[in-house]
Order: sequence, then C-alpha cells, then structure tokens
Amino acid sequence: AQESKTNVALLVSPGIGHLIPFLELAHRLVHYHNLQATLFVVCSSTSAAESHLLQKSSAVNIVPLRPTVSLDPNANFIDKIKAIMSASSPLLRRSLSAAQPLPAALIVDLFGTWALAIAHELGMLGFVFMTTSAWFLSLAMFFPTMDKQMIDDHVYSHEPLRIPGCSPVRFENTVSVFEEDDYEGFFGIMARELGTADGILSNTWQDLEPTTIKALTEIETLTYGKVKGVPIYPIGPLTKCCEPNLESEVLKWLDRQPDESVIYVSFGSGGTLSEEQIKELAWGLELSQQRFVWVIRPPVDTDSSGTFFTAGNESGDHKWPPEYLPEGFVNRTKEVGLLVPIWGPQAEILSHRSVRGFLTHTGWNSSLESIVNGVAMVTWPLYAAQKMNAAELTEEVGVGVRVSEGLVSREEIESKVRKIMAEEDEEGREIRERVKALKRSGERAAAKGGSSYNSLAEVAAECDIFRRQTQLRRAA
Ligand code: UDP
Repeated sequence: AQESKTNVALLVSPGIGHLIPFLELAHRLVHYHNLQATLFVVCSSTSAAESHLLQKSSAVNIVPLRPTVSLDPNANFIDKIKAIMSASSPLLRRSLSAAQPLPAALIVDLFGTWALAIAHELGMLGFVFMTTSAWFLSLAMFFPTMDKQMIDDHVYSHEPLRIPGCSPVRFENTVSVFEEDDYEGFFGIMARELGTADGILSNTWQDLEPTTIKALTEIETLTYGKVKGVPIYPIGPLTKCCEPNLESEVLKWLDRQPDESVIYVSFGSGGTLSEEQIKELAWGLELSQQRFVWVIRPPVDTDSSGTFFTAGNESGDHKWPPEYLPEGFVNRTKEVGLLVPIWGPQAEILSHRSVRGFLTHTGWNSSLESIVNGVAMVTWPLYAAQKMNAAELTEEVGVGVRVSEGLVSREEIESKVRKIMAEEDEEGREIRERVKALKRSGERAAAKGGSSYNSLAEVAAECDIFRRQTQLRRAA
C-alpha cells in the first residue's frame, strides 16, 4: 500500500502580511516536498482579501481558529494580535490533540512562539517561520544574550544596539517595541521562546543577507550566554504567486502604459498617513510628472498602522474622489495616474511590465515582492520593523532610496520618485541594475537545487525522519 504522507501543522497569527508567506510555505511543502499541510488560521474576523486567498488554497487543509475575545479598540496592533493569539491557545491544543495522526511538526510565526511548548508537550517538533528579515531575526535571536545595560542604553540613551556579527541597529532605525518602555513584554518573551524551537525558517536567502545569515548560522555551533544554538533555515524569497487571469481595472490600466513607466504607491495592509502628509504625497507625485498607481486610504492622524485589522475589508462607501486630496489633483493627473481605493492586487501590479518603481512602507513581504519583480524602491517606513528594513534595503542592499523622518515634503517626494524612475539619473540606474541582479539571485535560490530550496528540503526531511522515529517508538 502507498505510504501516507507526513503531515505538518502551521499556525498563523492575524494579519495578511503573515497569512501570505504562510500560505506560500504550506504550498511549497505540499507541492515540492511531498508533505501534507494543515494551516490553522487565527482570526477574529476575516477580510475579503484573506477569504479570497484561503478559497484558492485547495491543496492545503485550512482550519480557522476563532477565539472569543473582546479587544480594546485603543490598543496598538501588537497588543491586539497578542490578545487574539493567547485566546486561541486552548482551541489549538484541542485541535492538535484530536488530530489523527498527530502532525510531525508545528510551524508558528513570531506571535505564536508560545505554541512551541504545546507542540513539544504533545510530542511534535516545533519550528518558527520568521516572515521578517534575517537582520530582525538576528536581533531577536541575540536579544536574550545581550547585557541589560546595553539594551537600556539603546532604549533610553538611543545608543546603537550591537548584534554579534551583524550590522548594529541605530536608534533611528529601531523596531517600534524599543520606542516604548515595555519592550520585554512582547519582544523579550518572544526572543526567549525562539531559543526553544527545533529550527527557525527565515524568509530570506544567502545573497540578500550574507553577513547576517553567517552570524545566525554560527549560533548553531556557539553557545552565547544562555541561548542554545538553533538551526536557521533561509528559505526565501517566498512571495505570493500571481493569479494568471485576474480581472482588475488596475491591471487593464497598466496594460495601456509603456514599459517601466509607472511608480506603484502603497503602504501595505496597515499603513496610514495623516491628511497633511497625504496632500504632500499627492503634490510630490504630481510634480514628479511620472505615471503612478496609488492605493489610497483615508487619513488617520494619530496612528500609522491605522488599517492593520481592516484593510481589504472595507465596504467602499467612501466619498469619491476623496476630499482630503489637494483641490483639482484628480482632474490634473487623470491622464497619468490611477487612484485605487483601499486595496489593490499588489503581487500582480508589481509583476506588470509597465511598473518600474515602488514607493513602499517596506513591510518585509512588500520588500521581497518588489525585489522578486526587479522593481526599485522609494522606502517610506512607518512602524514595526519597517525602519530596519528600509535601512537595510537602502544602505546595505542598495535597491532603493529612503525618504526622511517626519513630514516628508512634496519636493523631497518629487526628487526621490524621479531618482528611481528617471532614465537619466545615474544613481537610479545603478539601483535598478542591482535590484534586477538580486531578482535573478532570488530565483536561483528558490528554484529546485537552489540554497533556499535545499534548506526547506532539509526541514521537510527532519519532519519525515521524526515521524518515522515516532512511529517506531510507538510500535515498540
Ligand atoms: N497587499 C496587497 N494589496 C494591498 C496592500 C497589501 O495585496 O493593497 C499585500 C502585499 O502584497 C503583501 C501584504 O499584503 O503581501 C502586506 O505585507 P507586508 O509585510 O508588506 O506589510 P504589512 O501589511 O504586514 O505591514
């Protein structure tokens, strides 16, 4: 009889930026590495964009976990995710305990590291898939070994945070948890739990972050402070595949534009700008005289992650054209620009032949989607680890230019958009060449036999071996 396949379970926290790479990981495990995958999707509500993704994923067994939890509407998005995740713990335990046979492994994201203990208790392997840069992962991995004084110097005196073997994190690039007093609350706990994993998968590849990956893989053989080595598997770039026959007004509009002539503007699933900033951005785009597609959301003056839980879920009953844009803007730019309310098919837009640049909030998925399509970036980080990402993309990898902190003026937007888009700009040309070379290296890494492909094959083999050993033990 044909032997049944090894099953792995994946646990994904709320947010489409987590769901997209987890779905892609599950697909690869099923299609390339001969496993079965069950994806536990924790959600308090599911947006239209998320439902659409889940419906298409027939090869993966999807199990929604819907905990009952009352969220404090004023809490930040991290606290909301934490509350939903912790309420889902009994649901996960019950589902896993009832599974026949028990999956060989549980793979969680950075908000699910508490579930590693459940996996181990039930006799499964526990992996973490970090959907962030390896640089951010290195910060989390080395954090428990860092001197308390050094961390306090970073948080309170704004000294750079030195990560062994990696670039230091200057305070102006720090992650948003370090801008608050209670960095221990989420970050400290998550960082310690990472050390209990049987392995950590990272959405990166050798050529993108060579120095950091070297530092991280060396932790395997070293014992830093109290942290035991954990194998690191660079398995990226894992990005959303394009839907071939997607019908969309934006794509039709792009079809009518010349090759590499359009800048795409979007701040991810959660990013929002103040009204004053939206007006400057509009002016900057108009002054740049470039073609543009802008996924636009109503202003939120107090929170740069204003739509984290709601984007892709909107009913669309907004006033159109939006009254918060400069007077006459829509009319003046109608030949060259397209405004897309709330949500757009980003993966398809970025892969369109007419797109040359991306003005992005540098969420890690957006950054990778830009690179795998060879699209140069204007980086405009807002929250979470986005400033680290922007610093890395512009200062180390050299695939974009960054806007300054605070209110970004129309003149600056105009000049940075031009730098990325204009034929005659020497620096812009070099940036575009680098991102195209990196695109090719990402393709090689993820293709059969490439470094990332082989890394994921190792994880799959670990799961297979573990299942066989467990079966033998139970039979004995
Ligand atoms: N996305 C999209 N359409 C939008 C905005 C975002 O399809 O209008 C997708 C985008 O392609 C990416 C994900 O949502 O895969 C956002 O993830 P990212 O890590 O870039 O940012 P986050 O939203 O988590 O901050």
